[in-house]
Amino acid sequence: MPSRTVLPAGVSSTSFARALGELREVVGAAYVLADRDELAPYEKIMIPAAEDDYEPSGAILPASVEHVQGVLAVCSKYKVPLWPISTGRNFGYGSAAPATRGQLILDLKRMDRILEVDPVLCTALVEPGVTYQQLQDHLKEHNSALWLDFPGDGPLVGPVGNTLERGTGSTPYADHLAHACGMEVVLADGRVLRTGMGSLPGSASWQVFKYGYGPYLDGLFTQSNFGIVTKLGLWLMPAPAAYRTLLVRYWDDQGLAAAVETARPLRLSGTIPNPCRLSNATLMLTEVMRRAELFQGSGPVPNDAIFAAARQHGIAPWNLTFSLYGTLEQIGPSLDIVTRAFESSGGEIVSDYHDGSQSNELNLSSFGLLNWVGGGGLAWLAPVSPARGGDAIRQRDIARTVLAMHGMDYLAVPTVCGRDLHHLTALVFDYGDLQARQRAKDCLRDLAAAFTDNGYGLHRAGIGLMDQVARSYGAIRRDVNRALKRALDPNGILAPGKSGIHR
Ligand code: ADP
Repeated sequence: MPSRTVLPAGVSSTSFARALGELREVVGAAYVLADRDELAPYEKIMIPAAEDDYEPSGAILPASVEHVQGVLAVCSKYKVPLWPISTGRNFGYGSAAPATRGQLILDLKRMDRILEVDPVLCTALVEPGVTYQQLQDHLKEHNSALWLDFPGDGPLVGPVGNTLERGTGSTPYADHLAHACGMEVVLADGRVLRTGMGSLPGSASWQVFKYGYGPYLDGLFTQSNFGIVTKLGLWLMPAPAAYRTLLVRYWDDQGLAAAVETARPLRLSGTIPNPCRLSNATLMLTEVMRRAELFQGSGPVPNDAIFAAARQHGIAPWNLTFSLYGTLEQIGPSLDIVTRAFESSGGEIVSDYHDGSQSNELNLSSFGLLNWVGGGGLAWLAPVSPARGGDAIRQRDIARTVLAMHGMDYLAVPTVCGRDLHHLTALVFDYGDLQARQRAKDCLRDLAAAFTDNGYGLHRAGIGLMDQVARSYGAIRRDVNRALKRALDPNGILAPGKSGIHR
């Protein structure tokens, strides 16, 4: 037995050693990791929590669906819980670590085949280990005229993990689950389910029609612990002839409301086809300076100081970006419409703005904000509201008040997705500074509670917040989740605690 083994809850060291032995026979000894040194990459988290509380008992790396089935058989026999990850990044939400201590990481990164790309129907079928970078390289090698849509941490993460967490990107295909079509799922008992048209023997339409016949099941396997997804169909965007990104600056802090009120109808009419992101001044400042260069006091940097420093860099209190796509003939009239609308709402248009993240350019744009304080701590919070100016202002004020109580800055990208606005908020802190980490932890809890108490539920949560967020959705929702869990995973082998779902 390796030293300082973290055992799964309720499993004896003898049983665990036996389970590891049998797992070695399934996937090969080299692919069962149980040494603390080997497990280090799975333990590093950025969220405000102690790594010890989320330590895995080991990691296992299958190479095929048959391996996954074999692993499930062993883990069911010994009641060892498995935490599946695809590319295992999940930055700001818990990285690769499980929701509770002692789970065995099921790392699917060796299953990294791009099984199909159809250039005519603009679809792909991929395995969980495929990264966006890998898929992008594949498309380039084949001179493909297809675009991928990336989340902010693009190249490192992958479409399967991101879609299963209902992540988003920045192009017209930003809603990743909306642009996924067909899953292959290994159930806890080892049976393999193909969703949608995929259940039909010899199906010709798995990646082109989502619903198949009967209940639409795909949603059940996102943000859940009901199965292990081993293949996912994707819809890819035909590369547009051209695109043009616009920046609209609102020089007044209350301009947030006008920006949202103007963006919503343009989104709903389809004039603007991608999400409208509203970066606040502090978030934009992280790209050009560090917090300490601006302010050394305690508490959050005062707004006046933020706005003054931002102005020097051409950054407004609110900075809205979106893009127009199509032929130049299509873009021209839309440009006139949006320019008129935003200018008459008090916005200042910067029309030759470049922001690769709204095209198919891979970048790591979302990591710049880590430089603000240094030390690598990051947690994202994603409360949802209706896309109305008044709600956006209310969320801003809730965030500022709670953050200030904990001495933290307001870094936010409220995004008008459609009828919904996601007030994406980042907490950055020095992970190694225990006091700062504790402050961030308390702040995260209080901020989530404050949004929820005002009717703004969170749509995604990191491992430290899953129970709290699940509770906020009430007892009936919890009971239904539990009933599904018992039906699909009666032994509770899969990812206990994921999204607050326990047996
Ligand atoms: P990414 O690296 O793209 O950020 P991850 O691989 O870390 O995404 O996955 C994010 C979360 O989604 C994981 O923590 C896990 O809860 C869930 N998940 C990932 N892959 C699978 C899968 N293949 N089957 C079931 N759940 C998964």
